[in-house]
Amino acid sequence: MVISGQVSGGGYRSHCCYPDKAPESIRTMPPSIFNQSGFNQSGTPLSASAATPIPDAPAGFRSGFVGLIGRPNVGKSTLMNQLVGQKIAITSPVAQTTRNRLRGILTTTEAQIVFVDTPGIHKPHHQLGTVLVKNAKMAIHAVDAILFVVDGSVVAGGGDRYIAELLGSVSTPAILGINKIDQQPSDCAVLDDSYAALAAPYGWPQLKFSALSVQGLDPLLQALVERLEPGPYYYPPDLVTDQPERFIMGELIREQILRLTREEVPHSVAIAIDRVDEDPDITRILATIHVERPSQKGIAIGKGGRMLKAIGSAARQQIQKLIAGKVYLELFVKVQPKWRQSRTRLAELGYRVEK
Ligand code: GDP
Ligand code: MG
Repeated sequence: MVISGQVSGGGYRSHCCYPDKAPESIRTMPPSIFNQSGFNQSGTPLSASAATPIPDAPAGFRSGFVGLIGRPNVGKSTLMNQLVGQKIAITSPVAQTTRNRLRGILTTTEAQIVFVDTPGIHKPHHQLGTVLVKNAKMAIHAVDAILFVVDGSVVAGGGDRYIAELLGSVSTPAILGINKIDQQPSDCAVLDDSYAALAAPYGWPQLKFSALSVQGLDPLLQALVERLEPGPYYYPPDLVTDQPERFIMGELIREQILRLTREEVPHSVAIAIDRVDEDPDITRILATIHVERPSQKGIAIGKGGRMLKAIGSAARQQIQKLIAGKVYLELFVKVQPKWRQSRTRLAELGYRVEK
C-alpha cells in the first residue's frame, strides 16, 4: 500500500495501491533545501511529513498515471528522465536495465503526469526476469493511459506486435510513441509504414520524437495530457520521483557496473545502500555490491582494485549531481549466491515481488 497522509489526502484512486514507498523522495529544489529533505544521520529517510503539502488543484487541472511500456532498450527510461528533467531512472545500451517500476512525476500549471517506467516486456529466463515482466504487465492495468514506446530507427518486430496485442486486450487508452527519430534514415517510409500497421488495428495515435535529442516532446506531452481526466495533484508539485534518494543512489552505482564490467556481471548484481551519513560539507555513503559468484566478485573488484575504483569514482560523480553536494563513496563487494532465483532475497534487496 502507498502510505502517506499527504498522498491519500491528495486523492489516490483505488488503482494506486501498489506495495510502494512513500514519497520521501527526490525533489526539484535548490541544494540547501534539498539536503534537508534527504536522510538523517542514521541513514533512515526523513518522514513524509517533512514534505511540502499538496495544494488543491485549480479548475480544469488534469492528472493521472501514464505507463511507459515497450520492448527493452527502446528508450523508455531516457524519455522519462527527459520529461521530468532529472536523471531518476538509469539507462544503458544493456537490455533489462530498469528493474522496479519507477515513477517519474511531471507537474505543469495545467497537469500532473505520473509516469510509470517499467522494465521492458520480454521472455523471462530466471526468477528476476519473471518478476520484471510481471511488474510490467501489472502496470498496464494500473494506469490511466499508456505510452507504448517503440524504436523508430528499426522496423516494427515480433516483440512489438506481442506487446501491441497485450495492450489491445485492455481498455486503457494508448498512444504509440515512436522514439529515436534522430537515428532514422532520411527515407524512413518502410519504418513508418511498419508502425502505422502496428497501430492501425487499435486506432492508436502515433507520435514521433527523440528522447535523446529532445525533439517532438511538447506535442507528445500535449497528447498525453489530453488523455487524462480532470483530477487532483497526487504528489507535491516539486517532487520528481516517488522513490527514496537511497534507491536512486543504488541505481546510479548499478548503472556504472553495467557500463564498466563485462556482460555476465550486470544481470547478477544488486546494490544495498548500507549507510548514509550527512555532514554539513560531505555525505558519506557505504554501499554493498551483491554478486552471485566469486568470479563476478573478481571482475567487479578488478586487478589491484582498479575496476571497483572506476565504478566508485563514476558513481560518486553521478550521486554528487543527484544530491547537489560532495560525496564520499565506499563500496564493498559480497557474494550472495543465487539471489536472482530467490523471491525472499529479491525482496530484501529492494525489488518489488508481487504475490
Ligand atoms: P529502456 O530499456 O527502454 O528504458 O531504454 P533506455 O532508456 O535505457 O535506452 C536504451 C538505449 O537507447 C540507451 O543507450 C539510450 O541512450 C538510447 N536512446 C534512448 N532514446 C534515444 C533516442 O531518442 N535516440 C537515440 N539515438 N538513442 C536513444
Ligand atoms: Mg529502462
